[in-house]
This record gives sequence, structure tokens and C-alpha cells, in this order.
Amino acid sequence: MITAFKEAEKNLQKNGFLDIPVDVRLDLFAEIARLKKEKKAVVLAHYYQEPDIQDVADYIGDSLGLAQAAAKTDADMIVFAGVHFMAETAKILNPGKKVLLPDLKAGCSLADSAPPALFEKFKAKYPDHIVISYINCSAGIKALSDIICTSSNAEKIIESVPKDQPIIFAPDRNLGAYLQKKTGRDMVLWNGACMVHEIFSLEKILNLKAKHPGAKVIAHPECEAPILEVADFIGSTTGLLKFSHKDPAQEFIVVTETGILHQMQKENPNKTFIPAPPNNACACNDCPHMKLNTLEKLYLCMEYEQPEITMEENLRLAAKKPIDRMLEISAAAGL
Ligand code: SF4
Repeated sequence: MITAFKEAEKNLQKNGFLDIPVDVRLDLFAEIARLKKEKKAVVLAHYYQEPDIQDVADYIGDSLGLAQAAAKTDADMIVFAGVHFMAETAKILNPGKKVLLPDLKAGCSLADSAPPALFEKFKAKYPDHIVISYINCSAGIKALSDIICTSSNAEKIIESVPKDQPIIFAPDRNLGAYLQKKTGRDMVLWNGACMVHEIFSLEKILNLKAKHPGAKVIAHPECEAPILEVADFIGSTTGLLKFSHKDPAQEFIVVTETGILHQMQKENPNKTFIPAPPNNACACNDCPHMKLNTLEKLYLCMEYEQPEITMEENLRLAAKKPIDRMLEISAAAGL
């Protein structure tokens, strides 16, 4: 096993995870529970993770909830079942703790659409603007931002800025356009997008709606404008979950990543949730980055404490300021 570990460690950067065979007879749920106790570890999972991972998590949430949970945990080790920028955010808030990500290659097309060097040049063109960045961005972009937001708190964050203050919004152009329309604010948008939310098919959603006339279409604001126009409700992942619980409708067409359906179905066993199809041959829309994490990789990273997120201290401090600002504004707004 020592040789297998050494070999896997050597290939960690290439593979993104410790590629060590896991005994199929192991009860991974019990093993993960044991490791949590032994290592005083907390497992934070995004709603887009596979159901088994959600079921072993200590906290399941969207980006805002996860950042808040990461900010207040007293665990020694944070195991982040999500994508790289989320684990980075946890590290920014917890420099003294070990932060693990089951697969280092779990990236994000939206975060990748804003390289810090290019964004810095873009920002220089608008010296009077302040930068509000969606949390789905790298630490480098956070360090160039004044305030971070999530889809749960974006409107409140924008409202906290004086009305005559122009804003650069990055990196998601769809969320930015939606917020611009909602708040009527003077905003310049960075041209980034999420590969999952960009490819929903309006035609297929309308066909589904015709087949299920009682169903409500609920969509995440990262979707493109024509999709949002036909939605009965637009909200963050947590917002969609809450709406599906409270609303009397019995059927919902869910226009976001399919991982959220697990919690929706658990909370509402008698309601029907239909994943909205993308404009390709698939019937539902999974984020390939989020789905790189598996229960096996989660177990391996807890057992061997790798891959670990590390960060240069100056970058961490610069990236922390706009996150702290977000957490303060959210707390004041009761979010
Ligand atoms: S769903 Fe989109 S924004 Fe979320 S992690 Fe995947 S690529 Fe990034």
C-alpha cells in the first residue's frame, strides 16, 4: 500500500486525485464517518454534488451558505466537496486549517472565463467603477474585486453601493444582465458564462411545459435571458429549493444543474421534479466539474489528507477583503 501511495502522490498533479484502488468491500459511508471523527473534519458539499456525497456531508448549501459555513467552522480540517474556487474560498477564510478538495481538477468554466491578467487590463479601462464579482471566480479575480456576491445576496450587495456609483460586474454576463435589469444600475459586464447554464434549450423547455401545463419553470439567474423570460421563478440554488418547498405546484421544471434535484425530492417526496434538458442529446444537465468528485475520492482525500489547497499569503489577504465585505453585508441584511 505504501508503494501505491507513493506512486499516486507522484501523479497527484497529473491525475488531480490520489489514484489508489479502494477495496470494494469497504463501507465508505462508515469510513467517512470514522475519518470525520478521528480527524475532527467537516464535510461541506455543494447542492450540485452527487447524492451519496450530499448524504455524507455535514453541511449542504449553495455558494453563500458554504462560504458562511466555512467562515464559522471550528473543525481542524475542511473537506470541500465542490469545485476548486469554493475550496479556495474556504482556505482564504481559514488559513490555519487544512482544506482538502477530492479532485483538484474539479474546476469551473465560469471561473476559467476570467483570467486575472486580462481582467486587470479590463478593470483599468474603468477607473471610476467598483468591482463586484460573483463568488464563482479564482482567488486572483477576488483579489482584484471590491465586494464578492453570490446569487443569493447579489441584489443586496448591489443595493449597498451608492446609487450613482458605476459597477463592473464579473465574471458571469447572464447573472450580470439579470441584475442590471432588476436593479437598473449602471453596470459594465465581463463576458464570462457557465457552460452548464448556457446550454439549456428554450424549445425543449417549452415542449416540456406544454406536456406538463401545471408545472412551474424555476431557473437559476446564470441562465440566458430568453430562458429567464419564461421562468415562473428565478433564484439562487437555495432560493429554488425553498420555492419548490413552499409553492403549491406539484410539478417543477428545474433549470439548473441536476444535483439540486436530490434535495428537492428528499424534501418534497410527493412532488415531481423534471430536469430541464440542454440543447444536446442529453436529458439532463450535469456540471462535469462538480461531478468529478466521487465518494471514493472523498474517502481517499480524507484518509491521506491530499489533495490540499494552499495559497500564497499576499494573495489570500487581498482575496479575503471582498469576501469579508460580502459576509458583513449579508449578515446586516439578515441573509
Ligand atoms: S455549474 Fe457552472 S458555475 Fe457551477 S461549477 Fe459548474 S461550470 Fe462552474
